[in-house]
Amino acid sequence: MPPPVFRFAPSPNGHLHLGHAYSALLNADLARQADGRLLLRIEDIDATRCRPEYEAAIYEDLAWLGMAWETPVRRQSEHFASYRRALDRLSAQGLIYPSFESRAEIARMVAERDANMAWPRDPDGAPLYPGTAKQLSAREREALTASGAPYALRLDMAAALASVGPFDWTEDGEGPGGETGIVTARPEAWGDVILARKDTPASYHLAVVVDDALQGVTDVVRGQDLFWATSVHRLLQRLLDLPAPRYRHHVLLRDAAGAKLSKSTRATGLRELRAEGVTPAEVRRRIGL
Ligand code: GLU
Repeated sequence: MPPPVFRFAPSPNGHLHLGHAYSALLNADLARQADGRLLLRIEDIDATRCRPEYEAAIYEDLAWLGMAWETPVRRQSEHFASYRRALDRLSAQGLIYPSFESRAEIARMVAERDANMAWPRDPDGAPLYPGTAKQLSAREREALTASGAPYALRLDMAAALASVGPFDWTEDGEGPGGETGIVTARPEAWGDVILARKDTPASYHLAVVVDDALQGVTDVVRGQDLFWATSVHRLLQRLLDLPAPRYRHHVLLRDAAGAKLSKSTRATGLRELRAEGVTPAEVRRRIGL
């Protein structure tokens, strides 16, 4: 049996905090216990929010924690062609369509309909896309694209589900409602998710699925905030004929007031703690590892 493959996949859009330390060290510990491999992946697709100095800080903070990972590190911004190929494959199955409304326009459309009924929201609380652009004719689409209007490429969820039937995933951790073991995927809860934009070749969902498969990841260990996103990931794996890793979602660390840790709260930043003289052993103690 080949060794299991774990990965820690931070986005360089801020400095790491105790919550990242927990996720990174949990991956490292599980990989070591299983005689497995540990990869680090830099998820830097979103050029507007990612910065080279944050990436450099990630390497520095993780090394300080005592983590070791395989090199070369995969940086998503260097692999746009891989994501494009996956998108083309979905497109060839007739599962992708462009939508041209801005977020504000979608919010307005939904507010109008909301007057009569509670508009459905995705597990993150955002209103589902009403599917309006699916009705555009080929000619209208061409005209809008030719005008240079920005667009998002969306998955036609109903068509995608019709082509694969029901499926599930193996959860070694726990979802926000205590879900564990074999969990039935519910990608329809996300509606027609965005898989790419005019200026961004892949969304998080598409890139993470392509990379986990390309890198042979067998065990995805990450925060519970991504638990229901796994439904979309499993769907994309089915549509693209990619293997399903096992999943282990862990609880998110909270601050003293019970709020989720954020990249902007300095109190729990690894750099700040290091500057205060906190040791990596003390970090482990504070996060319970
Ligand atoms: N890049 C994502 C984040 O920083 C994590 C992705 C994942 O583990 O699937 O939240």
